[in-house]
Amino acid sequence: MSCKTHDLLARARDGERLSTDETLTLYREAGLDELGAAADLLRRERTDPETVTYLVDRNVNYTNVCTTNCLFCAFYRPVGHPEGYVLSLDEISAKIEELEAIGGTRVLLQGGHNPDLGLAFYQEMLSGLKARHPAIELDALSPSEVDHIAKLSEMSPGDVLVALRDAGQDGLPGGGAEILDDEIRGRISRKKQSAADWLLTMEHAQALGLTTSATMVIGFGETLEQRLAHLDRLRERQDAARREHGNGFTAFISWSFQKDHTVWGNIGDKKGRELGAGPDEYLRHAAISRIHLDNFAHHQASWPTQGRDHARTALQYGCDDYGSTMMEENVVSSAGSEHQALTILAIRREITDAGYRPVQRDSRYRLVGTPPGGSAQV
Ligand code: SF4
Repeated sequence: MSCKTHDLLARARDGERLSTDETLTLYREAGLDELGAAADLLRRERTDPETVTYLVDRNVNYTNVCTTNCLFCAFYRPVGHPEGYVLSLDEISAKIEELEAIGGTRVLLQGGHNPDLGLAFYQEMLSGLKARHPAIELDALSPSEVDHIAKLSEMSPGDVLVALRDAGQDGLPGGGAEILDDEIRGRISRKKQSAADWLLTMEHAQALGLTTSATMVIGFGETLEQRLAHLDRLRERQDAARREHGNGFTAFISWSFQKDHTVWGNIGDKKGRELGAGPDEYLRHAAISRIHLDNFAHHQASWPTQGRDHARTALQYGCDDYGSTMMEENVVSSAGSEHQALTILAIRREITDAGYRPVQRDSRYRLVGTPPGGSAQV
């Protein structure tokens, strides 16, 4: 390890904010073990060092019809495709009843950019679900879905969010961020909103007091500079949200591009850049994120994409949360992530085996006690 790397790691361990160039130096030159040790120290200082949290939730993909054609997505179906669907309120409600039966607290409602679903559909979905399931947190849509609804309804994204919040939306999850760099976005999802628009929609959501989270997908052939640009934008937004609204993203979660069954994975990168990211790359990025995002308390491991073993290892590389039960996750599973949904007991065992005390949380990271019954399954 060079003197420079050694000094940078020492400053990071002291909680000092590193510049983009400084973190880039660490990304390129520091050993994985050293990065992990620094990230783990920061995680222990910023969160309860004895515990790892998890969320009992369910993903409901209310429609798979989409006109945005992201090259990395194996989930969507074009308009008129025989496998296209839109779930009814009763169908979604029945799924939430199953979630309630196992002590779940949050439903993640996400879907494609369906041109036949205007604002009224979402208002009815949210208000109907809130009336039937008042104790369940409705974390709904993503910034790009809000953008899609805004265009369809000829409204601003901010006004759409006000209408959705009034209908019962509790949170806006951070899906669709991928890499917040327009050169990469132009390569993988040309029709999706720009990086600036993603951030602006999040700004509106934070101004309204909605729960927000931040995501990142690595492995699209991006440079380390582009990865750092993404982290920089999140760090700036987090500073601003804290300053202006006293809130901000609850957590950061990253995972690697799942290339199976996707157009982008099949055709490969035209310039021969490697796609996807192996376990060491994922762990390195997890550690770098903990170091650079000094204003994010919680970092989440991603077992659905990385698998149980690597998600468990990520708990030593800056992550303090094992993620959620994800009773359904069609978008990732369609793209070839074969990892089965984990039972609540299995999640707790993974956390215990890693040396921590498992604690159930809700979407806002409030602790909600222990799960019911010894046989709860998802
Ligand atoms: S990732 Fe989302 S927006 Fe992109 S094609 Fe898939 S469903 Fe549509």
